[in-house]
Amino acid sequence: MKVLVKAPAKINLSLDVLYKRPDGFHEVEMIMTTIDLADRVELTLLEENKIHILSHNRYVPDDQRNLAYQAAKLLKDRFNIEKGVEIIIEKTIPVAAGLAGGSSDAAATLRGLNKLWDLGLTMDELAEMGSEIGSDVSFCVYGGTALAKGRGEIITELPAPPTCWVILAKPFIGVSTAEVYRRLELEKMDHPNIKEMAGAIKNNDYQSVCNNVGNVLEEVTLNLHPEVAQIKDQMKRFGADAVLMSGSGPTVFGIVQHDSRMHRIYNGLRGFCDQVFAVRMLGERHTLD
Ligand code: ATP
Repeated sequence: MKVLVKAPAKINLSLDVLYKRPDGFHEVEMIMTTIDLADRVELTLLEENKIHILSHNRYVPDDQRNLAYQAAKLLKDRFNIEKGVEIIIEKTIPVAAGLAGGSSDAAATLRGLNKLWDLGLTMDELAEMGSEIGSDVSFCVYGGTALAKGRGEIITELPAPPTCWVILAKPFIGVSTAEVYRRLELEKMDHPNIKEMAGAIKNNDYQSVCNNVGNVLEEVTLNLHPEVAQIKDQMKRFGADAVLMSGSGPTVFGIVQHDSRMHRIYNGLRGFCDQVFAVRMLGERHTLD
């Protein structure tokens, strides 16, 4: 028996960090949306009681460090599953890029194993378990568009943003999320207005979405890696309506509504960056099937 699951990337339209909590985590408020750039996770039932991970990407661990492995292990231990699984991950989402690739693979594994091992869990139960693996996993279980609070695990669904193109450009660098958080001086930063962004999405107001993109982590990463600022400038010059870094970076995204502008930005950045994609936002939440 085999189950195929799509694991889409996310971008943060808005990301704010409020304070550092006594438990060491940061209290955040983020508006995230899934995009049509996805890994493919293939789960095959094994009679043998083991979890086997396969990925042909040299940056992706093929042992217990892989978040998909951790998702399978969590379900296995919690529900005393005696069977095993082979997890093949075909990566399309750039690794360590601020696009939650690992979290999405873990979420896809939770959704897929719910089916393969016939667990009968609800989306809320899967999202709850996801929060034990990583802060972005709960959102990735549901997909769609949402406001995320707490460590990122308290999810409120939002409607799909206005239809537009998202052009993603990843420079030839990796960013350490831990270092970005370490260097964050919250009182000195510009904080985005999350309420305005949520309102813009609810009103399907494209201009207001563009006016309200913001990421409190951006300034830190831009100071560490000037090439991220260069890509932002180029995207603006090629005509993007809004430009922002996703998560802790280094991927930058621009949004536009017109096809011709999307092509201009895409072609302008190709060759200059490590990877460039032009994709749609995914409006719909995942469902249990
Ligand atoms: P986020 O946006 O949630 O901060 P990210 O997109 O910046 O995440 P990932 O692509 O998830 O980062 O990878 C971060 C690290 O996690 C990688 O360096 C890798 O070692 C590890 N990792 C574990 N599992 C996976 C996976 N399934 N896919 C990619 N990376 C993984």
